[in-house]
Amino acid sequence: MSATYDALIEHLRQTAHLESIHRLLGWDQQTYMPEGAAEARAEQMALLAGLVHQRRTDPRVGEWLAELSDAELAADPHSEVSANLRWWQRDYDKLTRLPQSLVEALTKSTAVAQQIWVNARREDCFAKFLPQLEVIMGLLKEKADTLGHDGERYDALLDEYEPSAKTADVARALSTLAEQLKPLIEKTDAAAHVSDQLLRGRYPVDQQRAFNRLVAERLGFDFQRGRMDVAAHPFCEGVAPGDCRITTRYDERWFSSSFFGTLHETGHALYEQGLPERHFGEPIGEYISLGIHESQSRLWENMVARSRPFWEHFFPRAQEQFPQALGDTSVEAFYRAVNTVQPSLIRVEADEATYNLHIVIRFELERALMSDALVAADLPAAWNEKYRHYLGIDPPSDADGVLQDVHWSAGLVGYFPTYALGNLYAAQMFESITRDIPDLASQFARGSFDALLAWLRENVHRHGRRLAAAELIERISNRPLDARPLLTYLRTKLSEVYAW
Ligand code: ZN
Repeated sequence: MSATYDALIEHLRQTAHLESIHRLLGWDQQTYMPEGAAEARAEQMALLAGLVHQRRTDPRVGEWLAELSDAELAADPHSEVSANLRWWQRDYDKLTRLPQSLVEALTKSTAVAQQIWVNARREDCFAKFLPQLEVIMGLLKEKADTLGHDGERYDALLDEYEPSAKTADVARALSTLAEQLKPLIEKTDAAAHVSDQLLRGRYPVDQQRAFNRLVAERLGFDFQRGRMDVAAHPFCEGVAPGDCRITTRYDERWFSSSFFGTLHETGHALYEQGLPERHFGEPIGEYISLGIHESQSRLWENMVARSRPFWEHFFPRAQEQFPQALGDTSVEAFYRAVNTVQPSLIRVEADEATYNLHIVIRFELERALMSDALVAADLPAAWNEKYRHYLGIDPPSDADGVLQDVHWSAGLVGYFPTYALGNLYAAQMFESITRDIPDLASQFARGSFDALLAWLRENVHRHGRRLAAAELIERISNRPLDARPLLTYLRTKLSEVYAW
């Protein structure tokens, strides 16, 4: 390898270590840090973020990349080196294109917006949030225009979270999904015999913790290279090689919150633990996109842990752990309970089918805001109109309506669609997996998940960011982004659960 390439790798690997220290501080902030450390911790993290930015935009990085762009080692487009150079160039261009004043304005306005949003939500007063929201939306439009696009401003923002994805492709898949999902969900409304009531019995925290750990370990989470702790908001942090941490929270009267939350984060963690560690700090050692990351969590949470064979194996163990809640229940009733579909107000509490409609609504609103088809002042009315249309729900307040998500106050526009992309990608992958492993269901029923994990390691994890998400999905399923596999999966599942 050339001396220039070695210098670039060394510089960026050290930068990646600084980022991993930042992640470790962030994890600690949300788990064990005493309240008194809040101010110092914020300063520590800001300092590190500044150092990382400085190193990533160091003019030497630009010079090294320029020198390497016509070097021989970048010639083969499929090599690891050229994949690395491609992504580094892209990241460098993006970071250096944004003027410092715009970056600072966004950081400041979103920092201020957090408290304003919290207060506005508590007081159920959108008008209090509006001025700050307008500032943020204005800055995001400026950011999109500075980064550049072909007329669809949303493309530039989406690209931050789902590199290379196109708004028009996402819109096409999501509108097919929404159109065909809507009648399916309406049909479940009439079926009162399916309910999740039995998940609201008594589920002691200690037993939940033990059961979560048992299942996560069986799915393949490596506790030698990871941890599980408690935090107010569940998350997964791939801190550093050999160190992936997930969190959950417990509710004694609601089984699903901690259990499915844990399996969701376990899915993220299995991806992190499967990335090639020897390439730490290089794009080919990193995850592809938020959508692909989410596909891993959704696949394990929904396609595995809400499947009948999964519970054929684990239900007797759940009964042992939770005799009060599940002693007199059948696996059949439990399977129906964990797959209940019910249109609801709040995105984060939505089931696996209606969840997608919550995302479609946000995606359509964001896209309209960015193209100036909608102004922020009209958001509450547009929001309520869409909830009536897609979910048949009239939000009783803005607090539980347009003000429910933290994302816009944090300047995250273009992020929401990655949640639905995760579901779409997961279904496309799962279709190929069940074709490649025909006895997958009987493996699950025996409590064996090794073949599934090996498939994901081989086809997704070990490649890091060698391919963009669209290329990976096309390679795995022989077709581009497509709503049909998810629709087929949901149709089959619901006709089983609801006995249609
Ligand atoms: Zn997730």
